[in-house]
Formats: sequence, C-alpha cells, structure tokens
Amino acid sequence: MHKKLFIPGPVEVQPAVLEKMATPMIGHRSKDASKLQERITGKVQEMLYTKEAILLSTSSGSGLMEGAVRSCTLKRAAIFAVGAFGIRWYEMAQSNNVPVDLFEVEWGNATTLEMIDEVLSTGKYDLITITHNETSTGLMNPLETIAGAIKNYPDIVFCLDAVSSAGGSKIEVDKLGIDICITSTQKALGLPPGMALCTFSQKAIERAQQVRCRGYYLDLLALYDYIQKKDYQYPSTPSLSHMFALDYQLDCILAEGLDQRFARHIDMAEYTRQWAREHFELFADERYLSNTLTTIKNTRKIDISALNRELGARGYQISNGYGKLKDKTFRIAHMADCTLEEVKELIDNINDILKIKN
Ligand SMILES: *Cc1c(COP(=O)(O)O)cnc(C)c1O
Repeated sequence: MHKKLFIPGPVEVQPAVLEKMATPMIGHRSKDASKLQERITGKVQEMLYTKEAILLSTSSGSGLMEGAVRSCTLKRAAIFAVGAFGIRWYEMAQSNNVPVDLFEVEWGNATTLEMIDEVLSTGKYDLITITHNETSTGLMNPLETIAGAIKNYPDIVFCLDAVSSAGGSKIEVDKLGIDICITSTQKALGLPPGMALCTFSQKAIERAQQVRCRGYYLDLLALYDYIQKKDYQYPSTPSLSHMFALDYQLDCILAEGLDQRFARHIDMAEYTRQWAREHFELFADERYLSNTLTTIKNTRKIDISALNRELGARGYQISNGYGKLKDKTFRIAHMADCTLEEVKELIDNINDILKIKN
C-alpha cells in the first residue's frame, strides 16, 4: 500500500506532477529546453518576489548550499545555525576550505538580531548564512527582523536556506535583500527529489566574480554565465524530467494563489500545533513555529517506530526526530499540496492508535 507522506521531504506528489516526470525527452541544447528553463525562471521569480536571476541545479538543495558558500565567500563566512541544517552548512564550508565561523543557538531557539549585529559589526565577514525554516527543530526564524539587521551591512552576501519553506511560506526575496535564496523540489514545492533552485542577486554575481576557486559543477557563477551566454541553458545535462514537472507544478502553485497557498500552510500548522499542545508539547519557541512542519516533544514517551508501523498499515507515514532529537521528538510535515482535511485525517488516526480521546 502507498503511504501518504507527512514527512519533511520527500513529500506527497500530485499524480499529474508525477506524470509530467514521464514527458518524452527533448535535447538539452534545443530551443525548447531554453524556453522551458525561461518559463520556469519567470514563475519562480513570481513565487519568490524577485527580479534577480534564477539558477537551477541538478542536485538536491545541499548542492546549492555548498555552491553558495564556496562561490561567494571572499573573506570569511558567518554561519548561523538553529539546528542540524545550519551545522551542515558549516561543515560544507569547512570541507571546501572556506574560512568560516559557526554561531549556534540552543536548538529550539531562533537567531537573534543582537547575535547578527555582534558578529557582523566585527567586519570580519562578507557572507552570512541563515536557515529560514529549521527542519530538525520545527522553528521558523523571524526573517524580516533578521533581514533588517543584515541590511545594515551592505558588503554581506546574504544566503538563505529556504529548502523546507519556499513555496509554502512567503519569502519576499528582493524586499528582504536576500542574495541567494535556496530551495529544492521535494519539500514545499511538492515535486520528487532531484533538483534545486536559487535566486542569485547582482551582488552575489559580483562577489563570485572575485572568488578564484568556486569549484566546477556547483559553481553558481558558471550556472549564471551559461544562462546569459546560451539563452537559458544549463552547463551540463539537467534533469529535464524535473524541469517538465516543475514547469507544470509552478502553474498549479500560482493558480492556487500564493496568498491562499501560504494561508493553507498556516491553517494546517495551527491545527497540528493545537493538537500537539493538548497531548504533547511543542519543541520550538512558541514565537517562531514553522508553518510547514511541526516538531513535537515526545512527552508521552510513545514508541515512535511502533506508531509509524501502525500508521503505515493505514496508509500514512510521519517522521521521527532528526539527529540528536531522534527519539526525543517526532515530526509531522504539512507542506506542499497537503490539505487541512488530510492533516485532520492523519491526526484522527494517530489519536485512534494512541487511544487519545478528543
Ligand atoms: C531538507 C533540507 C536540506 C537539505 O536539502 P536536500 O534537498 O535534501 O539536499 C537543507 N536544509 C533544510 C532546512 C532542509 O529541510
């Protein structure tokens, strides 16, 4: 039996999107390939409220995270972590020999304006990375506040990990001054895993032009230059299947209406949180809860694998905790094309299995 996925990626994908993955191939150097990439670009720009360039990468989101920190750090990168994915960005910088420092908060907390000010005012850094939505802790960082603090430092290239939020939560890239906003297909966008995309600002382009060793496959400037020189093409062979599906899914996202889509995510989040507060506890700071997934403290000491086995028999799957939170928490993702009715159905089943009376 297929299990409907309520895990934070890969997510449940609409059958029509899956069908688009099976579109017959075209040459990746054809005019049709250029048009496909150009169409995708326009729609991603609309979804992310930006006029800047859009880069596609045949990799998961991690590829563009690694590419961003390597391609755009000249002096030193300041990595702000609020959980596992922020730390991953730090490790990527280190393994690429990029000068870097890590600024971590206790898991469950947000990055603060004061921390950013303290670090950036040293003048040591020229790139910052922020996790928008931390998928391990279920925390959504206060983006406007953070962006406001970063704006006081015009030489900083601002990289945002929006892998588990873009397409499910509003991110006004240009207004917030985000230089590189990264996401991948298998989370709030609602596609199969295998492709990533990001915005790439003029400031980021100019910075990358000064960086000598940007790597090869994940060199963001190379992706950008190829789009300019070759009319919306990709330097190597891209996953055209993902591009067909993305082109279609972006139409669905825009047809739903961005505001409606973001509101649907908030409704699903509020329902899940309310249930979690009544029967468990929320892991993250109440002020900064994620709209796309909920991380729940396992205060009833339930056997999460056993719960998932029983859910599996009924056609659902949720997620255990991430990394060091593996057994201490569990996670319910409510992102992409998932509906409030489906979330209610899932939670009814969890209540039934755990014998929780509503
Ligand atoms: C899933 C995730 C990543 C990693 O993305 P991949 O597409 O799996 O490489 C990075 N950051 C966050 C916040 C994520 O949720």
